[in-house]
Amino acid sequence: MFVVHISAECYPAAKVGGLADVVGSLPGYQQKDGMEAIVLIPKYGMPWIKEQEWKTVFEAEVVQNGEWKHFSIEQVADGILDFPLLAVNMPEYFDRPGVYAHPPGHYFRDETARYFAFQQAALIWLQNMDKVPDIVHCHDHHTGLIPFFMKHGVDYDRLREVPTVYTIHNGNYQGMHSWKDVVLLPRFHRNDAGLLDWGDVINAMASAIRNSWAVTTVSSSYLEELMHLPNLGSLMQSESGKSHGILNGIDYEIWNPKKDKYVEHKLKRSLSTFKRKNKSELADKFNLDPLAPLFVFIGRFAREKGAFILPDVIGSFLSANNPASFIILGSGDEGLSSRFHHLARYFPDNVAYNQGYNEPLAHMLYAGGDFLIMPSLVEPCGLNQMYSMHYGTIPIVRAVGGLNDTVVDIEQEGGGFRFGNLELHEITATLYRAMKLYGNEEEFEKIRKRIVKYDFSWERSSDRYKELYNSLIK
Ligand code: ADP
Repeated sequence: MFVVHISAECYPAAKVGGLADVVGSLPGYQQKDGMEAIVLIPKYGMPWIKEQEWKTVFEAEVVQNGEWKHFSIEQVADGILDFPLLAVNMPEYFDRPGVYAHPPGHYFRDETARYFAFQQAALIWLQNMDKVPDIVHCHDHHTGLIPFFMKHGVDYDRLREVPTVYTIHNGNYQGMHSWKDVVLLPRFHRNDAGLLDWGDVINAMASAIRNSWAVTTVSSSYLEELMHLPNLGSLMQSESGKSHGILNGIDYEIWNPKKDKYVEHKLKRSLSTFKRKNKSELADKFNLDPLAPLFVFIGRFAREKGAFILPDVIGSFLSANNPASFIILGSGDEGLSSRFHHLARYFPDNVAYNQGYNEPLAHMLYAGGDFLIMPSLVEPCGLNQMYSMHYGTIPIVRAVGGLNDTVVDIEQEGGGFRFGNLELHEITATLYRAMKLYGNEEEFEKIRKRIVKYDFSWERSSDRYKELYNSLIK
């Protein structure tokens, strides 16, 4: 089976969040399973991409508003990744140091033109491939118009019968574009325009939900939640017959405490030694008490991640003289960032704030933390809680989306703490539960040993995608 994944992110080439982790690992597992799975992304001007050798495999032009723009499809040298990675090279759109924004967080303003060009280039390449794919698998809104054009575009007749799968990793970003930008799209018959429209704009995600052969979301709970989303809920309900919740897995090659290249003390025989030594590294690095329970947060400062509640939670918890340490790793909203800076200055012995995106530090925090806090408002799947459990760090989560599906409360013989509402008192009460567990060494060790055994492997999820692909192929 020949599967082409199309995405805006793919680890290790270009990562902003979980989308990259998924697109960077699922195809490798599919290859191991005997499929031919390849990935196409834009060729950004980011470090990993710049360091690779690329060879051109295809060249053509996209047309936008009557202008012809050259692009090439390039492939990274064999043997670097466990699947073939290809990229659309269009320097005017993609040779920039970030995926969606300049590194300090200023979004690119030509998002519409960029993603329309990326999708058109992908379609032209697919149409001209020696071998038509068995499945085209599109991810998130940046690729959401492809299923429509494969069915209804004037120029892609070879793709009409190719099944498309569309995965929603994050329904908050839908790719809404004004109809005045229709001139930037490839040709289609005007009476099909309704299949691009949702709420009087071109809505890439809505169009994908309607036009793809199957829709998946990254957890079952999130699929339920999408059915109640204000602007997409009714559409998700009417397309529920072709929709499936398939939980992400984690890549055990990269996220492996026994050989993680970013973790100073690898896991050998004793889990508690692994935790103690790595925690002590963090305590040294950030000047924190190595004996106090260590709570960590890793994530984007987007509203959906709920980090905005943490300064108040941490401030009040520490003001009550609780002997605890907190390390925050994240970036985004500048107002929130300055609140964390302030908090770290006010409680220098208890709080460390590391601003920015830092892959090595994220791994160290999963390894050395005692508890990971995820107060998400929305969490389609969430990978952090799975990484953290795999590294023996107990998650404290709001029971929503994928967190609801992966974290069972310790009271129900599970491996984490759950709370229901993003309220100061609920989170604080949960922190007290965590402190109590920390104080009971035997019980604490028992839970740690339990969570590292959980199975979050990709094989299970990869089998579900395979079943779905097979059901679509005639
Ligand atoms: P999302 O894709 O919504 O951001 P996920 O939980 O699916 O959330 O994936 C988050 C991924 O991004 C994880 O691999 C996490 O470790 C990583 N991550 C998030 N923020 C940072 C950061 N500031 N530094 C390093 N890694 C980060």
